[in-house]
Amino acid sequence: MSELTISNIVKYFDQTKALDNINVGVKENEFIAILGPSGCGKTTLLRSVAGFIEPTSGTIKFGEKVFFDNREAVPVEDRQLGMVFQHFALWPHMTTKQHLEYPLKSKQNKKRFDVAQRQEMVRHTLKLVELDGFENRYPNELSGGQKQRVALARAIVAQPKILLMDEPLSALDAHLKQTMVQEIKRIHHIMKTTILYVTHDQAEAMSLADRIIVMNKGKIEQIDTPYNLYHYPQTPFVAKFVSKAFLVEGNWEGDKFCPASAPDTTWQGAEVASYFKENKLYPVRPEELSLMTSSSTGKGLLGIVKDKQFLGRETRYMVDAVGKELEIISNSFHISEIDEKVYVTKH
Ligand code: ATP
Repeated sequence: MSELTISNIVKYFDQTKALDNINVGVKENEFIAILGPSGCGKTTLLRSVAGFIEPTSGTIKFGEKVFFDNREAVPVEDRQLGMVFQHFALWPHMTTKQHLEYPLKSKQNKKRFDVAQRQEMVRHTLKLVELDGFENRYPNELSGGQKQRVALARAIVAQPKILLMDEPLSALDAHLKQTMVQEIKRIHHIMKTTILYVTHDQAEAMSLADRIIVMNKGKIEQIDTPYNLYHYPQTPFVAKFVSKAFLVEGNWEGDKFCPASAPDTTWQGAEVASYFKENKLYPVRPEELSLMTSSSTGKGLLGIVKDKQFLGRETRYMVDAVGKELEIISNSFHISEIDEKVYVTKH
């Protein structure tokens, strides 16, 4: 059974339909990333679960408890949530310890935990996020990574049932981001809380989440594991946004595909989603393609190398083939030069 159930959620801001019939069941302790381009509705969905936004219609339930339906909207403070925002949202006049004590002083938490328990929770959480020793520092005496740890600690100290995170790492540099991704994974493993995590960064979503909700224009395109999204996209948007795939035109015969521009070539595609088969397309990822300088068999898509970038571990080619530019990620050994004629094959 789903712990968090989001059913038929629609949200209009005036004429803008920010959420268009959203349905998701999140399991207990599941880590769900909400991924999509700017303006697709990620934050609106997260804030609807939090209670900061009232949907226009639909239902949000946590177990048997109704968070929102057409009769009631439970206030934010009664939903037992933790939240982490993009820009930390720390209070300059409070120390690290005071940030952690603050949520425990709410009426609800004073009822749930006695003084000794609350002190222990602060101590335990400081240790969990590795901030012991920084209790008495103010935000301006902390690094970016430490500030984000304080924000995370404040969100989890009261042991929320759901942790909501909105682009929590986007203010950090690439290296720190990587460290914090590992940290968040470690903390989720220990805390075992249900997490909804908004990001537009595909790599971040893939490395963190059990499942990813891919959104586009207020709708869900696909909900799946990172592996399945990457290997088995169900829609053109997911194929392009997640797998960076190119949609080659051609004809399907059962599970075999023949590109329109290379009649002697066949690609196997038993696992390709029905949408692509019905629309005479094959989603192919850059690393599934290879370049050959000649084709003894005449198989492969004939093309011209337009650009070549040596990236160390690999080389990225842009090849003019099938009337469009195809991206090909190859190993880093030199194969072809710009303006050279090549054959593109799929392995
Ligand atoms: P980003 O990655 O840029 O933060 P997002 O996917 O989180 O984008 P939302 O902030 O949920 O997108 O916005 C979804 C749509 O709703 C957008 O078209 C946005 O302009 C609109 N929108 C969001 N909040 C409001 C508001 N308070 N009033 C009017 N329109 C809004």
